[in-house]
Amino acid sequence: MWKKLPLIWKILIGMLLGMVWGIVAHALGWDEFTLNWIKPWGVIFLNLLKLVAVPLIFVSLVSGIASLTNITKLSRIGLKTLVLYILTTLVAISFGLILVSVVKPGNTFPEEKKLEFQQKFAPHLEEKQKVAEQEQEKSPLHFLVDMVPENIVKAAGDNSKMLQVIFFAIFFGIGMVLLPEEKVSVVKKFFDGLNEIILKIIDIFMGFAPYGVFALLAGLIIDFSGDVALFKALGLYFITVVVGLLLLIIFFYPTLMKVFVGVSPFRFLRAILPAQMVAFSTSSSAATLPVTKRQVETELKVHPEISNFVLPIGVTINMDGTSCYQAIAAVFIAEVFGVDLSFGQMLIILLTALLASIGSPGVPGGSIVMLIIVLSSVGLPVEGLALILGVDRPLDMLRTAVNVTGDSTVASIVAKSEGLINNLEVTPEE
Ligand code: ASP
Repeated sequence: MWKKLPLIWKILIGMLLGMVWGIVAHALGWDEFTLNWIKPWGVIFLNLLKLVAVPLIFVSLVSGIASLTNITKLSRIGLKTLVLYILTTLVAISFGLILVSVVKPGNTFPEEKKLEFQQKFAPHLEEKQKVAEQEQEKSPLHFLVDMVPENIVKAAGDNSKMLQVIFFAIFFGIGMVLLPEEKVSVVKKFFDGLNEIILKIIDIFMGFAPYGVFALLAGLIIDFSGDVALFKALGLYFITVVVGLLLLIIFFYPTLMKVFVGVSPFRFLRAILPAQMVAFSTSSSAATLPVTKRQVETELKVHPEISNFVLPIGVTINMDGTSCYQAIAAVFIAEVFGVDLSFGQMLIILLTALLASIGSPGVPGGSIVMLIIVLSSVGLPVEGLALILGVDRPLDMLRTAVNVTGDSTVASIVAKSEGLINNLEVTPEE
């Protein structure tokens, strides 16, 4: 029976059992056993996904761009993708700002806890602060400089430098489009074949997903189990972020999908749920890319010509969940420190959160350093970060799920506008 069960159910069961295992194991004192014998399987699953991420980005972008056949089409799709990514991110940030202004979670934060948290997390902060300072000392154009690799092998060797791999892949693809067909046909076939192979590898790895997420979640629950007090003190902040992120997943994207793509919310969420679950378990949208691509192509029927191009770029620059969370976190910290933010400062948060989400790598905790930059931009004390670090991981899990949902939505909208989505299929449930 297990064999016949659709993957989506298997992953869901894996997640639930993983959480139950974590809770029971902690209660029975099996923490060591879980961390030594179960968690490593989760790490293996994560590594498998990361293993295919860079080859996938490179190969899918090159074959995606090479299939576009003309530069005008490429720039049209590129422009649509960028505009949609920016607009959805701006909506997500505004949403976070409105929500946090209404709920005001910082006003309920106990005064005595403030110092305690700062002391507890100060050591973690120093290192991050240093990185953020280095970032700020760089020229305003450093994001452009950082995008251009000086050595493609080095760039491909570092999962946080995916934008550099994308840069090279885009020019590789453009080179192929500009050359006469007979000169590049062999390379094109080679890349198309390579693309198929990578997709097959992803299929194989996904068979391991239910066990991988089980192990990841079991390990995470053990890692968090000592922090119940933290969750209590930060309760309202935590809930505000969770509500904001869930509303994006449940209302914002399904509405966009219904209006612009004509896909029902139920079908959309069912299609994208496996990617959301893997994103939730891994906290890395880059590691989830193989699954996102698989779901978007096989379930939402987006043509690979679009998904090959839109998704890898989204993983690195489009992070709606991250930006919504950054806005809430910044205002929360301001409230705790008794800083009244003016409308102008809110606008600055909007803009820096947009840039910060573009600059954050799709890895666990990738946006923390960037949040320091958002805080500094409106003069908020960076120590504030120490208040929220303790509960960051679960929020990271959820915002990563939002990030991949945003990428999938934009890929579907761009595909629809280009007539490259086959969403007419009626599924039995509908
Ligand atoms: N973990 C997030 C991602 O991979 C980035 C972040 O918000 O820290 O999308």
